[in-house]
Amino acid sequence: MRRVFPWGVVILLSMAHIFGMWDGCPAASPEGLSQRIRIVVDPGHGGRDPGVEAMGGGRPEKDWTLLLARELQREARGFPSVQVLLSRQGDETLSWRRRKEAERGADLWISLHLNADTRGRASGPRLFYPSETTEGAEGLQPPERNADVQAILRDLLRTRWRNDSILLAEHLNSALEGIGTQARLPHPVRSAPLKGLSELAIPAVLVELGFLTHPQDRARLQNPSRRRVILRALLQGIVEFLRDPRRSS
Ligand SMILES: [Zn+2]
Repeated sequence: MRRVFPWGVVILLSMAHIFGMWDGCPAASPEGLSQRIRIVVDPGHGGRDPGVEAMGGGRPEKDWTLLLARELQREARGFPSVQVLLSRQGDETLSWRRRKEAERGADLWISLHLNADTRGRASGPRLFYPSETTEGAEGLQPPERNADVQAILRDLLRTRWRNDSILLAEHLNSALEGIGTQARLPHPVRSAPLKGLSELAIPAVLVELGFLTHPQDRARLQNPSRRRVILRALLQGIVEFLRDPRRSS
C-alpha cells in the first residue's frame, strides 16, 4: 500500500504555531529563562519635586529619571523575560502611596535617581538596597492566625526580600562595571534607610545613574547611544539576577 505523507497535519501544526495556538512546553526566552518577570521602574521625583539640578542649569533630575525609565521600558522589548512597568507616566507630583500602587502584581522594584555633589568631583552610579528595618512585609498577610507564627513568617519574608535586593543590586553593579561607567569605589553597593522601599513586599533597589554635577556623567547622559549602553547593561544585570540560583523570589 502506498503511504501518503500527512501534509494536512503539517499544515495544521504550522498554522497553529503561526497563530500562537500551539501551547506546548513553556519555551525558554532567548535569555534562556522560562519565567517572565514584571519590574516596576520608579522614575524618582516629578511635578513639584524636581530632585537635584545640574550646576549652571539644564534638565532637573525628575526629567532625566522619566526619560531614562521610558527608554528602559522601550529597550526591555528586546528582553522577552523582562516586562517593565512605570510608577509614573509623566511630570506628576505623586505621593509615595500613589507611587506604591504600581507594586501590585510586580516581582521587583527599581527606583531610578541621579546624584549631585556640591564640589562637582564625585561621579559614577551608586546602588542602594533598603537597610534592615522592622517595617515592611505589611503588604503581605501570611496565611496564619497565630500572631507569633505570623511574626516569624514576616521575618522570613523580610530576610528573603532583603537578600534578593542585595543580589539584584550586586548584579546591576557588575553589569555597570562591565561597561566601565562605575567609578572605583570601595563599596558601590550599600544599604541605606530607604523608607519607602523598605515598605515594599518585593525586592527593591535604588539606582543613582551618575552625578548631574559631573561633566563626564552629564555628557554620558546627554548622548542617546551612551544612555542605551547603560540601560542595556541594567537589563542584562536583571537577567543575570534571574539566572542566579541564589535568588529566592
Ligand atoms: Zn533623587
